[in-house]
Amino acid sequence: MSYRLPMHQRMANALSYGEFRIFYQPVVDLQTGAVVGVEALCRWPQRDDTFTAPETFIAQAETSGFIVQLGEWVMRSSIEQVRQWQQRFNTPLGLAVNLSGRQFLHYNLVKSIEDATRAVTFAPQSLEFEITESVAMHNAEDSIGIMRQLKALGISLALDDFGTGYSSLAYLKRFPIDKLKIDKAFVRDIPDDNNDLAIVSAIIAMAHALDLRVQAEGVETEAQMEFLRDIGCEYAQGYLFGRALPSEDFALLLAERAASR
Ligand code: C2E
Ligand code: MG
Ligand code: MG
Repeated sequence: MSYRLPMHQRMANALSYGEFRIFYQPVVDLQTGAVVGVEALCRWPQRDDTFTAPETFIAQAETSGFIVQLGEWVMRSSIEQVRQWQQRFNTPLGLAVNLSGRQFLHYNLVKSIEDATRAVTFAPQSLEFEITESVAMHNAEDSIGIMRQLKALGISLALDDFGTGYSSLAYLKRFPIDKLKIDKAFVRDIPDDNNDLAIVSAIIAMAHALDLRVQAEGVETEAQMEFLRDIGCEYAQGYLFGRALPSEDFALLLAERAASR
């Protein structure tokens, strides 16, 4: 494919030629150490064996509107994959899918989710959508309406990258969400940085007071994991537990875990 084609055209071609990939990153229950879920993360492999970073192409896809198609593909493919793992490994593995702003506000979102979960008989209770706080806050009243419809389907909702955008605490109380995901920027320097310790502790205390679960992103060290676990953070993901892996490699990880159960 010519690199002179505009990016949105190259993305559309890549999708029709089946070139996009989904990598899966484990989500761990900090009390038990069990892998309880995965986050689906989109990858765009290039000819030279490198990957275009999602930060680049997701933003472009958002601008051109292509994210609606790409996101639908991510949702359908990852649902199919996780359903297969649930059966093969006999586990209630959860699936988290990122929703961009454009997708979130797309008029057809709820219908396409219903279709996707019905098509493969995937329990909506196994599905979680991650919405960044900036997206949720951008049009907060509309967001609440859409969130309610998703909740009515039985799907869980998480606020992604929490703490990096601007959040109105008044809305936080009104959003029908289940979980806050603490951004990796706050996790990186714990337990050494006293400010980050204070921020993370405060987020967890606030979340629990609002009856929300908490998931830490970017957990890379034992010390971070122990601190988070000891102050009651429920879930974590990060290189300490595993990077985002291609599905074949993730299946191996699940097989190892199943064998040691
Ligand atoms: P995100 O949803 O916050 O995903 C977490 C990012 O942190 C992922 O980057 C993941 O690989 C990375 N990460 C995980 N553990 C660690 C760690 O221990 N240390 C560090 N430094 N990083 C870690 P990735 O895969 O490059 O994705 C970047 C962003 O692109 C995602 O952030 C998400 O906002 C977006 N994205 C990825 N796939 C999709 C998709 O299918 N749809 C939409 N709308 N957005 C997506
Ligand atoms: Mg995410
Ligand atoms: Mg995040």
